[in-house]
Amino acid sequence: MNVYDSEKMLDIMKNLGYQTAETPEEADMVLLNTCHIREKAAEKVFSDLGRLKSLKQTREAEGKDFILAVTGCVVQAEDNEILRRAPYVDIALGPQAYHKLPEMVAKIIRKKELNAKDKNNNKKNIGVINTDFPTDSKFDFLPAPMDKKSNAFLAIQEGCDKFCAYCVVPYTRGIEYSRPVEDVLKEARLLVEKGAIEINLLGQNVNAYHGEDDSGKERSLGYLIRKIAEIDEIKRIRYTTSYPSEMDEEIIEAHRDIEKIMPYLHLPIQAGSDNVLKAMNRRYSVKQYMELVEKLRKARPDIGFASDFIVGFPGESDEDFKETLKVVNDVDYIQAYSFKYSPRPGTPAASLKNQVDEKIKIERLDILQELLNQKQLQFNQSFVGKKVPVLLDSKGSQGQLIGRTPYMQNVHVKAEDKYLDKITDVEIVKASPNALSGKI
Ligand code: SAH
Ligand code: SF4
Repeated sequence: MNVYDSEKMLDIMKNLGYQTAETPEEADMVLLNTCHIREKAAEKVFSDLGRLKSLKQTREAEGKDFILAVTGCVVQAEDNEILRRAPYVDIALGPQAYHKLPEMVAKIIRKKELNAKDKNNNKKNIGVINTDFPTDSKFDFLPAPMDKKSNAFLAIQEGCDKFCAYCVVPYTRGIEYSRPVEDVLKEARLLVEKGAIEINLLGQNVNAYHGEDDSGKERSLGYLIRKIAEIDEIKRIRYTTSYPSEMDEEIIEAHRDIEKIMPYLHLPIQAGSDNVLKAMNRRYSVKQYMELVEKLRKARPDIGFASDFIVGFPGESDEDFKETLKVVNDVDYIQAYSFKYSPRPGTPAASLKNQVDEKIKIERLDILQELLNQKQLQFNQSFVGKKVPVLLDSKGSQGQLIGRTPYMQNVHVKAEDKYLDKITDVEIVKASPNALSGKI
């Protein structure tokens, strides 16, 4: 989602006449888009800001303009803390207000001009901040996509009402919101005009999608995907991230009927023990999750599952953790993200007394990741010698082309540029846990 947001902010700035720079050193403006989901990500912001402060000072000493903007969920969560801890920040914008970027840039330029005239007050903190959750949707103000792209993101849903005990999303992204069907289709067509053949539908809770159609009727993700699949030029459709108990019949049937939906589903279970799931306020049991996996396999026998895991949630025992390992084996995940539980300020789990020792968290994460890597390697190795359709959508540093299989595996291929932005059958010659290499 942050990649999508960053692309949109770039489009907004390009409409004002800005262009992208290769490095911060070459830029007149740096925009740091931030994530608050885990402590590590959030703390990184302040170390990055420290570095940008020096750059800003150097540039200003040379008499050059430099605007430093911070956007995203850290701004939403830390609110005025940002301007207190980093008073040199010019613009701080929450994730629901980034369509206000032009207004904020105008404001800060004006403030800088006034400040420059006021010789007695040069050190004044002049940063501007906006962390509103505006009633008008930012999506109504975003410009059309500007860059050519064969593999595109499209946000259809944002925010979350689930309030998992560990998670900041409901607080930073706000309540759940679904874009109207027609808005989504319009953006899909614009993306197609820019060369999109793969569309990745995005939302923190994407399968809770319930946008209105033109008659005011609420429609599900299954319906929306059927509509998108009618666009001829679109060959591949994906969606992420799904909440297990929001997988309804319509989306399962869509997997059965629509070839264009890729046979890969990111369906985070988080933990394999019902005790932990309950404490996390996840609203499903392991049994229900496994039944869902079976249903999806029946609908689409070649489907592969990916997940997110949190280890060391407060109260997680060794037994609970073993149940997570059992789920990994039972589902046979082909890919996964796994994290140590990170207490987030303001979330209910952060104030629980039964926090798990850091050492135990590290041990469990190591064990889990080893198992997941092993599974991923096995899955990848099963492709050696096979031909797989790959959308080659970027160029690597050694001139090779890089793309994705239907299962989201990264593939590196030595191939001419004429294969770029096309789906081509690639013969897989080598597999590692994180990538495949092949030839055409
Ligand atoms: N809506 C999705 C996940 C969005 S957040 C879902 O419900 O599955 C992305 C991932 O970050 C989560 O799946 C979770 O594994 C991880 N995460 C969120 N909060 C976390 C925390 N406090 N500590 C560690 N991992 C966390
Ligand atoms: Fe966070 Fe996902 Fe839970 Fe929503 S459903 S609170 S985004 S983990």
